[in-house]
Amino acid sequence: MPKMIFVIGANATGKTHFIRQCFSGNGMTCFNIKDYQQRVYQEEKAGSLIPPGAQFRYLMRANQLLLEDILKALAQGRDVAAEHTLYMAKRRIAYIDALRKAVTDLTISVYVMCPSDAQWEANASRRGEADQLQRYRKEAELIEFPNVSEGIDAIYEVVDGDVRLRMDPPRPEIYEAAKQALAEEAARLQREDEARERRKQLIGSMRERPFWHYCEVCGKSQFMTAQEAYDAGWDYPPHMGDFGLLGPRTCGGCRLTDTLYWKILTSGTLPIVREKDLTPEELVTWRRIRGEPESLLTEEA
Ligand SMILES: [Zn+2]
Repeated sequence: MPKMIFVIGANATGKTHFIRQCFSGNGMTCFNIKDYQQRVYQEEKAGSLIPPGAQFRYLMRANQLLLEDILKALAQGRDVAAEHTLYMAKRRIAYIDALRKAVTDLTISVYVMCPSDAQWEANASRRGEADQLQRYRKEAELIEFPNVSEGIDAIYEVVDGDVRLRMDPPRPEIYEAAKQALAEEAARLQREDEARERRKQLIGSMRERPFWHYCEVCGKSQFMTAQEAYDAGWDYPPHMGDFGLLGPRTCGGCRLTDTLYWKILTSGTLPIVREKDLTPEELVTWRRIRGEPESLLTEEA
């Protein structure tokens, strides 16, 4: 019977050590979710600045890549141990459903690392992360303890190397709740994808379609294409800067140094726009920029 083992737990709870000790020597194929997360971050060239909403997608993508490798290994008849986060029942259920669909007779066990305070502290110190322990403990509070109703055959607590079977009473209601949460999540991601695609198309169309150009300095406005504006000397997206981001919005006769962009850039403090510091005219300019490109499609009243 093929075997699938998950080892879950917060940071520095000894997952890697436990897997090395109990499973990797026994001919099992071992995976670590961290390797997959790193791979995704590298592929996305994500540094310390991750775009809002992207982190969740990166983590989901890493989960998916790991799942694919687990399925491949199981298909080759190998037993698998995976170090994973899978704090939430719904994440485990998504995995387990996919595994059960692909592999009949699969035995799934989950080991939850629950070190004593002293052990956890020692682990963190050894890694030079003693100052992070408070954060790790908070993270551990997010773990929903696994339940057989998720489709797991055996659940164990690992306390300082001592492995104890812990099978809480079944809670069948969590399965349906998880499926519903996952469906809502998938629908939300799809809506976001669609909105992003619509915006991409709109931005792309701005290269061809005529739209309103407003000079923030002299107040001149003109309905024309980006090329016409560029030829007439305007500083305007898409030729200059990006729609929705602060930059100069001027006709060919006005100067960069009279723009809101210049004022913010040379303010001597962080280049952040604070609406309460703006004049009424600057506020109009700022809100128009924030609303681009939609704010340029119809003439302002
Ligand atoms: Zn002007």
